[in-house]
Amino acid sequence: MSRPPRVVVIGHGMVAARFLDDLTRHAERTGAAFDITVLGEEPYEPYNRLMLSEVVAGRADLASLTLPAAPEDVTVHAGTAAVRLERERRVVIDAEGREHPYDLAVFATGAEAVMPPIPGLGAGGGQGVRAVRTIDECRELLAVCTPGRRMAVLGGGLLGVEIACGLRTRDVDVTLVHRGGHVMDRQLDAPSGQMAAAVLGDLGVDVRVTSGIVRVLREKEHLVGIELADGERLDIDGLVVNTGVKPRAEIARAAGVPVDIGILVDERLRALDDDSVAAIGDCAQTDAGCPGLIAPGWEQAGRLARELCENDQAATAPRSAPIPQPTPQATPEPRPEPEVSIVKLKAVGLDVVALGEPLPDPFAAHAQGLRVLTLSDVGDRRSATIAVDGERIVAGVVVGSPRVAADLMSAYERRTPLPLDPAHLLVKGASNPDAVPQAAGPTALPSTATVCRCNGVSKKEIVDAHVEGARCVEDVAAATRATTGCGSCTATVCGILEWMDEVNPAQEATMA
Ligand SMILES: Cc1cc2nc3c(=O)[nH]c(=O)nc-3n(C[C@H](O)[C@H](O)[C@H](O)COP(=O)(O)OP(=O)(O)OC[C@H]3O[C@@H](n4cnc5c(N)ncnc54)[C@H](O)[C@@H]3O)c2cc1C
Repeated sequence: MSRPPRVVVIGHGMVAARFLDDLTRHAERTGAAFDITVLGEEPYEPYNRLMLSEVVAGRADLASLTLPAAPEDVTVHAGTAAVRLERERRVVIDAEGREHPYDLAVFATGAEAVMPPIPGLGAGGGQGVRAVRTIDECRELLAVCTPGRRMAVLGGGLLGVEIACGLRTRDVDVTLVHRGGHVMDRQLDAPSGQMAAAVLGDLGVDVRVTSGIVRVLREKEHLVGIELADGERLDIDGLVVNTGVKPRAEIARAAGVPVDIGILVDERLRALDDDSVAAIGDCAQTDAGCPGLIAPGWEQAGRLARELCENDQAATAPRSAPIPQPTPQATPEPRPEPEVSIVKLKAVGLDVVALGEPLPDPFAAHAQGLRVLTLSDVGDRRSATIAVDGERIVAGVVVGSPRVAADLMSAYERRTPLPLDPAHLLVKGASNPDAVPQAAGPTALPSTATVCRCNGVSKKEIVDAHVEGARCVEDVAAATRATTGCGSCTATVCGILEWMDEVNPAQEATMA
């Protein structure tokens, strides 16, 4: 009898954990069998990295982030990094020199924080400087976050803003230094960015939009301050760097696997020149690039697992023949871009939702046949802007108005035809901030509406889970995985459960 294919997974983060879970589920269903080894550099069970900013904000604790352990028949080497891939021999070599032979090597090595080339910052940042990408980094940050401590956050993107708000909840003196036009400039237009900065100011965050830091100041190696491009010196005790991430592709690159920014993969998530190497999650570069978000990573994990169990036994089957030589690549079929993009900030005290591509300049948009409508109320620190193409919202940004945001998200996602005057959408929700938004309420949501974007779970799946007996968020998470990513859908899931309890009381009685 031939042995099962050997799958070696490099990295044990959120996407690897999902891959192992999905592979086990599909294998049980299809009868496929694999011999699976996982090498995880971090000495922990996989954990929900998205929630680290919530830990900084005191809204979650580190212990609650742990994800389910790998299935029992998987061999996990925690705290063991892979250091080399030898493709000719098809082995992965770990930091202790052990060899792990594979039929399929799956890179799930994620991404790492980039330290900008600023004098005084070393490759790892140096004393007093950290990113917030791992449990260890988060712990180190929390250990020095005492009230009155002076911290600067470098980089006013989504994560930088989340961390800055989180630090304020701990009474840390926070300066947010952002190089560029305005905070969150990848998601927000300039007026929305200014509104967000005003809210940050109200929260006590000192926002500096500058042309950057020119120097990190140290005394005997110790961080004492930063010098801004305009010459101002800020005295600080700590610096948190959030200036972007880069895929961890060093091992693949050293093995000659084609790498651009990330590990280049085709539509089957295989390396372009080697069917026995795959990449998923933040380390992989598809036609859609390297989005650095959990939803595409989890989708890839599920796709690869399903394919291995259903169609691809041959591709991972043990082979005695050496690795195939690189062959000229057929142009991969272009895959459609994700059609709906919704970004929700998870920051204490600041509500921001961005829909679609960044908003265009209103006059440029007008020339392209789009209408851009804005409602802005600086006094109340709220604004909403939408770009409308004919009858549909194609982009939008809402600051400080979660109910308007809920309505607009719903209209954007459902592609509902808009009122003759789309301004009503902005005024309706804003004029009655306490009203439950009709469009976004659980009854009005169409059954196909996506509730959990991280996991791609629809309202119908949550309703079905309720019918099957799910009565609380944990039950729904177990049945559908909704709420297990960034957690921003938890309130909607609760709303659907409450609504189902009301409309389906007979079922309660039957279950009792
Ligand atoms: C604070 C924070 C908040 C975030 N918020 C959101 C959000 O709201 N929404 C969203 O979509 N995304 C968010 N993200 C991004 C999201 O966390 C990532 O998209 C996701 O973690 C990617 O999963 P991954 O498994 O590909 O990589 P990772 O989670 O980075 O895991 C990769 C693992 O591989 C290990 N590894 C690397 N090299 C090796 C090696 N050579 N040998 C062994 N192991 C190795 C690493 O140590 C790591 O444990 C956030 C990220 C952070 C840091």
